Amino acid sequence: MLYLIQNVHILGPEDEGIKDVLIGGAKILALASHLPVEAAYGITVLDGRGKVLMPGFIDAHVHILGGGGEGGARTRTPEIMLSDIISGGVTTVVGCLGTDGCTRTMTNLLAKAKGLEEEGITTYVYTGSYQVPVRTLTGSIMDDMILLEKVVGTGEVAISDHRSSQPTKEEFARIVADTRVGGILSAKAGLVNIHMGDGNEKLDFLRYVLEHTQIPPSQMLPTHINRSLTLMKDGIDYAKGLGGYIDLTTSSDPDYLEPEEVKASTGLKMAIDAGVSADHVTFSSDGQGSLPIFNPDGTLKGLGVGKVASLYREMRDAVFSDGVPLETALMAITSNPAALLKLSGKGKIAQGMDADLVMADEETLDIDTVMAKGVLMVSGGEILVKGTFEY
Ligand code: ZN
Repeated sequence: MLYLIQNVHILGPEDEGIKDVLIGGAKILALASHLPVEAAYGITVLDGRGKVLMPGFIDAHVHILGGGGEGGARTRTPEIMLSDIISGGVTTVVGCLGTDGCTRTMTNLLAKAKGLEEEGITTYVYTGSYQVPVRTLTGSIMDDMILLEKVVGTGEVAISDHRSSQPTKEEFARIVADTRVGGILSAKAGLVNIHMGDGNEKLDFLRYVLEHTQIPPSQMLPTHINRSLTLMKDGIDYAKGLGGYIDLTTSSDPDYLEPEEVKASTGLKMAIDAGVSADHVTFSSDGQGSLPIFNPDGTLKGLGVGKVASLYREMRDAVFSDGVPLETALMAITSNPAALLKLSGKGKIAQGMDADLVMADEETLDIDTVMAKGVLMVSGGEILVKGTFEY
């Protein structure tokens, strides 16, 4: 299928003005102020007037297999469906295991990632779960990285949390080192996704790695940094002082945040205002993890699951509520995770890049069109491609 999007405002994520974009064979073939090819046979022309075109969003922390289980087996959350992902403009996910690395396994995670890829999006996984020693598929982090194509790093390794395996700083450094070398040998990112809990150590484990080894900060992405104001402040200090990278979680219900919790959109604004480089902050949804749901009066209604669509909601809130420029906020869900994960075809709109695209109304930013690897998944706000078991 060939598509020509005409007269669309490109935010790639840099503002490149109004252009035409030619798409075919899962790639962006050409990008210019005017492409006079509309008469070509078999081409579908999409009108981009009044719309912005953004790179497909990258969500680098999703419990695609389901998560939870922290209230017993009945609280294990269900697997994600394709429409949960694409309806939020997300075209690339990194799947991970969390607290439960026993009933959730790497074989199952890889199979789910493969299924989603067959359904049309791009998927990767981290090897491991909260647990240390890391429970890999082959028995070693490096072997997993080198032999399993979808493995781009290790995670979510839990530190500073009562549910963590309580590794020592040396054990933690070894995980980061093995993941880095595995990444070097497989030409992949070798990123460690780190679940941050409420503990007093905050980001001290990451500081230890930077102070005692030659490993660069780009190998570690601590997540849930916005779980408390205290951790958010430490994250800003870590990013500014040591060039670290921080990830903010988007899936909490914005109306019922924990008392100390910082909304992801506000966290981004705080970080930028404090002088953190805009390319050092990412968002991820923690999608499909278990999440308390509240009644309007604030009482607990029950358990729900975190939504991948919250990724874009927080990006929009950063723009509309917190006053972050759109090109800057967009980096947190496009070019920044692509760079950290070394996904060379993702996160930018340019010739030769993968045709993962989101087109939205320029005023409201409501999603109109989602394309994944050149296939139209959402059009006019309607989902065109559903998962195998969705009707
Ligand atoms: Zn987590």
